[in-house]
Amino acid sequence: MRDESPGEAPDFLYRLASPTMGEAEVDAVRRVLSSGWLTNGPATRQFERDFAERHEVEHAVALANGTVALAAIYLGLGIGPGDEVIVPSLTFISSATSIVHVGAQPVFADVDPERFNLDPVDVTRCLSPKTRAILAVHYGGQPADMDELRAVADDAGVFLIEDAAEAHGATYHGRSVGGLGHAGMFSFTPTKNITMGEGGMVTTSDSHLAERIRLLRNHGQTSPYEHTVMGYNWRMSEVQAAMGSVQLGRLGGIIATKRRNAEWMRHRLRSVTGVTTPAAPDDREHTYMLYSLLVEHGRDEILSELQTQSIEARLYFPPAHRQPIFCGEQRHLPVTDWLAEHLLSLPFHSKLNSDDLSYMVNSLEDSLGRRVSPMAHD
Ligand SMILES: *Cc1c(COP(=O)(O)O)cnc(C)c1O
Repeated sequence: MRDESPGEAPDFLYRLASPTMGEAEVDAVRRVLSSGWLTNGPATRQFERDFAERHEVEHAVALANGTVALAAIYLGLGIGPGDEVIVPSLTFISSATSIVHVGAQPVFADVDPERFNLDPVDVTRCLSPKTRAILAVHYGGQPADMDELRAVADDAGVFLIEDAAEAHGATYHGRSVGGLGHAGMFSFTPTKNITMGEGGMVTTSDSHLAERIRLLRNHGQTSPYEHTVMGYNWRMSEVQAAMGSVQLGRLGGIIATKRRNAEWMRHRLRSVTGVTTPAAPDDREHTYMLYSLLVEHGRDEILSELQTQSIEARLYFPPAHRQPIFCGEQRHLPVTDWLAEHLLSLPFHSKLNSDDLSYMVNSLEDSLGRRVSPMAHD
């Protein structure tokens, strides 16, 4: 079920991910298995149509996972060796590694300290004659400042691309993510709001790009055994696609539950000093794939105390620019570095109820109390 930890995960009572799966997924998989058509068929076409409609774009192209979906966008746009792509460091690593996979160079920009998304002003500082694209990541389901980023991208004459891996169904100024840039990408691993275990999607209204990505996905094959571009096997299986259409039908309910839970948390934590709840600007709809608090003091101790209480709290994300694969060549990112010391994400899957949230908040309060109380002997 897990997509991130190597080896055995300890058995937490409150797990980060708990996908919603039911009989409808089982039925969909059974139909595919008995049809005999297991890849690149009608279920994939259907999932693509459903996904494009839900995200208000002309084309959706299903791929094996989100990481290759990003690489496919770059290859499809002709981005490669000698080119730079501006990307936040506070993101899952493959926002950056996918740029390297196509031979281009990631340039890490800082984020804003409240919404944890690309800071458009710092993005302008990262521009160079080699810049070809800006990758806006919608951190944890919080839409990035797309109007400002669009202005920067248009001024510089570069592509604006969305990494919406964590933001299915999120909206910005009433419009769905995935259709706000030149192309968008989604992922379906088990921590995301909807999942088929693995899977990726590219969304775009650029017909030429969609067509190129379809070719790249299937060995560059324009007709049976004629290969006109250097391609890959980046297909999604029919089993995943059939599950995907069912999961997409659950998305609205999952988002609604998470927004209710986020409201509950905001009220409950309002009077608790030392923590800040996620920003919820009313010009965009956060989908809370992650629920990330800012902790003023003692984040590391609080994190491990919560884990001792069987709560799978985490730091999302250890910054990419400080990873061994990227060390040494990068800019100073003061906000990202500060956030890495203060962010704390709590489990926030859609099966949690107010008793579960109470348990987590009480544990958090106990832990904070031990930090701030003058009587504490720790
Ligand atoms: C999950 C994720 C990806 C990668 O998607 P995979 O399907 O795991 O390859 C990329 N970017 C972000 C922000 C993600 O959260």
